[in-house]
Amino acid sequence: MPAPTCYKHIMIPEISILSQMAPAPGGFSPLYMLIIGVTMVSSLLISGMLKRRFSQYSQIPISMTGAEVAELMLRQNGITDVRVISVEGQLTDHYDPIKKTVNLSEPVYHVNSIAAAAVAAHECGHAIQHQQAYHWLTFRSKMVPAVQLSSKILNFIMIAGLVGVSLMNNPTILWTWVALFAVTTLFSIVTLPVEFDASNRALAWMERSGISASIEHERAKNALFWAAMTYVAAAVGSIAQLLYFLMMALNRRE
Ligand SMILES: [Zn+2]
Repeated sequence: MPAPTCYKHIMIPEISILSQMAPAPGGFSPLYMLIIGVTMVSSLLISGMLKRRFSQYSQIPISMTGAEVAELMLRQNGITDVRVISVEGQLTDHYDPIKKTVNLSEPVYHVNSIAAAAVAAHECGHAIQHQQAYHWLTFRSKMVPAVQLSSKILNFIMIAGLVGVSLMNNPTILWTWVALFAVTTLFSIVTLPVEFDASNRALAWMERSGISASIEHERAKNALFWAAMTYVAAAVGSIAQLLYFLMMALNRRE
């Protein structure tokens, strides 16, 4: 059962794992390895927990499929210009603001479980944010071109470092690295209110509409909590790395 995380939702630029997990420019210090290690282990634990919860809650049937839940939630929120479609793969659920489609992975679209309902409602939460011009979503969308450009330059500097052209001895480039990394970190932070808000909208609607009875509701809540934690882990990891790079730049200056 896929998680309700929308890795590609609102067309997040493909921020390469490389720039999120960049080797420290200028070498692998023990502190940097510790930061990366802790980030990776906590991400693995959280996504493992999320997968367990979802396969568990996929066994709990409700009366509607993910697609039906999405259609109903959009309609009840007065949204008539967003289509609900099925996309291949797992973890591919996302909302596309350009095509105005709620994209549900096949196991969510066709399945009538509380897990599928939670994912579907979460993605509709993003559609409602878009319709209402929710300020964090608007801000996040405006950041996309800057994040794409920053990721490209970060990757370029990093690849140059990997092939032995150490650009990091140059303070200007080191500070450029810090500034660009700050942009991608800010993006991962801005993602948090967007994700939490989409889940809150989903849960509030599920409760109001009676889609989930009380026990089921707690499960939907729990699953969406672990999904949100994957974003928290990513943001915390990014902040830790940024602080490390900042320290490095400050020390080098002296
Ligand atoms: Zn989301």
